Amino acid sequence: MSSRVHIEVPENSGFGPTHLPYCVFRPRGGEPRVGARLGDSIIDLAVALDDPMFAQPSLNAFMTQGPQCWREVRELVHAAAETELPATAVHSVRAVHLALPVEIGDYVDFYASIDHATAMGRMLRPDGEPLLPNWRHLPVGYHGRAGTVVVSGTEIRRPHGQLRTASGAPEFGPTRRLDIEAELGFLIGSGSAMGTPLRTGDFADHVFGVALVNDWSARDIQGWEGQPLGPFLGKSFATTLSAWITPLDALTEARIPLPPQDPAPLPYLQDSAPWGLDIDLTVEWNGHTVTTPPFRRMYWSPAQMLAHMTVNGASTRTGDLFASGTISGPERHERGSLMELTWAGTEPVDLDGDKRTFLENGDEITITASAPAVGGGRLTLGEVHGRIAR
Ligand code: MN
Repeated sequence: MSSRVHIEVPENSGFGPTHLPYCVFRPRGGEPRVGARLGDSIIDLAVALDDPMFAQPSLNAFMTQGPQCWREVRELVHAAAETELPATAVHSVRAVHLALPVEIGDYVDFYASIDHATAMGRMLRPDGEPLLPNWRHLPVGYHGRAGTVVVSGTEIRRPHGQLRTASGAPEFGPTRRLDIEAELGFLIGSGSAMGTPLRTGDFADHVFGVALVNDWSARDIQGWEGQPLGPFLGKSFATTLSAWITPLDALTEARIPLPPQDPAPLPYLQDSAPWGLDIDLTVEWNGHTVTTPPFRRMYWSPAQMLAHMTVNGASTRTGDLFASGTISGPERHERGSLMELTWAGTEPVDLDGDKRTFLENGDEITITASAPAVGGGRLTLGEVHGRIAR
């Protein structure tokens, strides 16, 4: 008889039995496969549930099945977690390699925080209205580069490009204004056909889960190239996604109404149910907490983002990622980018006596987050970590 184990969950773990985020992991000497996290353990779902759908190098085959299957699997994992599992189905999170969990389809990044958009407007257009006229009418977004979405822990190479300088003429070289954007990403599980817009009420039938995102940004490249068409090479060199996808059903206790929207959005953007989320982020820069952005302040909900993204008839596919845009609050200690935190480099941050503005080689950024969990306590979203290569 093979040995069996019962997983012990440490007290106050952010990975309790009502969270169960998914990953793709590679055990030492093994092939990549789908896992679910409980405490500090990973349950190998292909073994525990005896289902080859999970013996795959991405979550896509599972994500494409749709919400009924997602709920059934979550119940099966929950039940399995309470019993004794075969020892071959349980791994320590510290003993495995975590891979990019999703084969990313299309990637869209929004600009949905009113505090972020207002701060950027004040810096970029000090003499004008901080918000452009369209901002309160639609969630502004752009298409990013899906092929450079990388898993947490991947080293980031400082990008080279044309840099805006004070003289007006550009220089070529490594960016001097390498920045972060603390964001939340939403992953499409079940796609939608071209010509068939999704409504805000369709959100939970199509979105599989959420994960932290760091949208690395080169501000000097972005500022020169972006007029009039918006972000391009200043963003497309790398976007980091957490290794852990939190199922939407794990966040039911975090759902809250959005802050008031004024003016009322057009009918296709009106939320049929609240999809504001009470999620607290923390950004650490070389081990120092520098900001704590609140997702609850976001102006546009992810359900509104999905409705807007498809209202023209654009299709969605399994693995598509859309991210919220930088999450910022109104206070200095809630700003989700270094651009805002240092006010375009004019107000350095003190890192243990070291006055810093943008990222230097060797710097490390870790974004974490927590939210109210189903059944009480708090859950921890999987971190997103990155180090700037020397
Ligand atoms: Mn962004």
